[in-house]
Amino acid sequence: MGLLDGRKGLVFGIANDRSIAYHIALSLMEAGAECGFPHLPGEKSERRARKALENGGIANPWMMSCDVSSDEDIDRVFDETKEKFGTIDFIIHSIAYADRTYLKPGSFVDTPRDAFSQALDISAYSLVAVTRRAKEIMPEGGSVIGMSYYGAEKAIPGYNVMGVAKAALEACTRYLAMEMGEFNIRVNTISAGPIRTLSAMAVGGIDEVFDWVQRKSPLRRNIDASEVGRTAVYLVSDLSSAVTGENMYVDAGYSIIGL
Ligand code: NAP
Repeated sequence: MGLLDGRKGLVFGIANDRSIAYHIALSLMEAGAECGFPHLPGEKSERRARKALENGGIANPWMMSCDVSSDEDIDRVFDETKEKFGTIDFIIHSIAYADRTYLKPGSFVDTPRDAFSQALDISAYSLVAVTRRAKEIMPEGGSVIGMSYYGAEKAIPGYNVMGVAKAALEACTRYLAMEMGEFNIRVNTISAGPIRTLSAMAVGGIDEVFDWVQRKSPLRRNIDASEVGRTAVYLVSDLSSAVTGENMYVDAGYSIIGL
């Protein structure tokens, strides 16, 4: 018996086999869950995500295109999900975007209005938009998980507008948890340590961050995306039935260190 046997849900944000969402999907499916995979529209995005899943042993993954900055796309994805699954039990939101021009150390002050709005829209507001639709097909309750980073709390050179977006994402998580609790829907974020993904590589000076975590974190190492995957299994499962509105660190302990 898997911990998540019979659970169904959507995993947003698989770009390739390095994506955190990919490792979350493998862990959830290994625990018995059934998943659908919304990906950014475009043949290239679909091909990359499908290839990763198929190479990971997931035959015929259920893919659907969805730009989370489009309400029409999100509506369509949830209509299709209702048709296929009826009801769902979880949502993994593993999506972020900011124009990399402004992800260089020293460039936060130059962030223009449109780049700021776009980063906040895609990386934070979309959690609200997705949770609102998910609620309609979660009659028994469920678990919504977003992905954050320590740059939400502390200023990290290069993380810039993405840090502001993650602060908003964590605040959205608390407000959503407050309102969704009466429907037995739990909303949490995982604050992951740095992992070498496409998104992470867009952040200027990221190599220094990996070195620093290796040297300074209590576990003296960086994390593996599969460790985030296993934490997601916990947060989707009944093992975490009283956990909501939380930001759970999976960071080798880095966030507790002062110096
Ligand atoms: P990733 O593999 O690049 O995943 C990011 C995903 O977001 C990609 O699949 C990307 O699609 C998708 N995306 C971007 N804009 C979108 C939009 N408008 N609509 C739908 N999808 C969109 O990088 P990742 O590191 O796994 O990132 C996943 C999450 O973890 C993000 O929230 C990130 O901030 C967070 N996180 C990452 C780290 C880290 O060090 N890697 C640490 C903590 C938190 P395309 O690739 O097709 O554009």
